[in-house]
Amino acid sequence: MQVLDGRLRMLATGLAVAMAGVAAAERGAGGAGNAEGGRLAGGVGDDRVEASAVRHASAADSSFARAEAPTVFAAIERAVAPAVARVEWLPEQPVQGTVFTVRVLPDGAELARVTGEFAGEPLHFEPGDDAFTALAAVPVDARGELTLRLVVRTAAGRVERREERIAIAPGDYRHERLTVAPRYGGGYDEATLARIRRESERVREISRRAHGTPRLWEAPFVRPRPSRITSRFGNGREFNGQIQSRHTGVDFAGAVGAPVHAAARGVVRIVDQFFLGGNVVYIDHGAGLVTAYLHLSEATVAEGDTVQAGQQIGKVGATGRVTGPHLHWIVRYGEISVDGLSLPGIQQ
Ligand SMILES: [Zn+2]
Repeated sequence: MQVLDGRLRMLATGLAVAMAGVAAAERGAGGAGNAEGGRLAGGVGDDRVEASAVRHASAADSSFARAEAPTVFAAIERAVAPAVARVEWLPEQPVQGTVFTVRVLPDGAELARVTGEFAGEPLHFEPGDDAFTALAAVPVDARGELTLRLVVRTAAGRVERREERIAIAPGDYRHERLTVAPRYGGGYDEATLARIRRESERVREISRRAHGTPRLWEAPFVRPRPSRITSRFGNGREFNGQIQSRHTGVDFAGAVGAPVHAAARGVVRIVDQFFLGGNVVYIDHGAGLVTAYLHLSEATVAEGDTVQAGQQIGKVGATGRVTGPHLHWIVRYGEISVDGLSLPGIQQ
């Protein structure tokens, strides 16, 4: 029973194979068996492997879920088989609702291609001078750890699958606690609700499509306005302990007519008037990244235009659902909304 509990706990945390690998590596050091044998033995009840694995899991129970996990995994990779790549990410503990950078560096073999996935979104690795790099996004409500899955192909044709557990740091988001019952319905009629749904579906389609666009952006990203931020990303409203809604953009101050700039190079996909967003511009920067500029008084670009980082794309306004003129700036990686101020190189 003790062993079964331990095994379930390991399965639940995805560590079963890795821990059997540790046990096998320990045995391997004594000359008895190899990693693959150890894994199989662990699965069919080799007591020694199982007991060792359980001991590892128990000892690590309270601590492995945090920062130690990636270190442990890196050690296992080396014990089981010589790895062909080293994986790093920056910052070391990515924050809820931000983008972070993943780097894959060659380690004894020339790398030809890296693909991967994180938080349900594909990653788009680009070869650079010394590493393959990609952006990845952390959903604002992610907790604990998320798994980074990579497939690394060497020039010689070897394929290595990697999994890294990445500990997520909580975002510094303020919550407004509502003590009265929320108003239901919001007063929108069916036609308006259908319009809102249609517009948000169009936006989702642009986000999905951005994964198929080659990477057009280059760091550093540019702030869309040089002005004061009036509302930061991620602040949530809580009702009965549940986040009901969040501010999923960054608000910049500005008078009507003040210029709004593209955050990076990209292709303009939407110039339209939305019910909630007012006059909007959506830009596809490729490799999964989309930015949007809401409540404009006027757009100064057209759908299909290619824009450069810092180029004016519109003017601040007060169109759509607003209390006054400002720019609401949205950044999405795939369907994950993130704080634009986490983009690489952007001025804080
Ligand atoms: Zn806003």
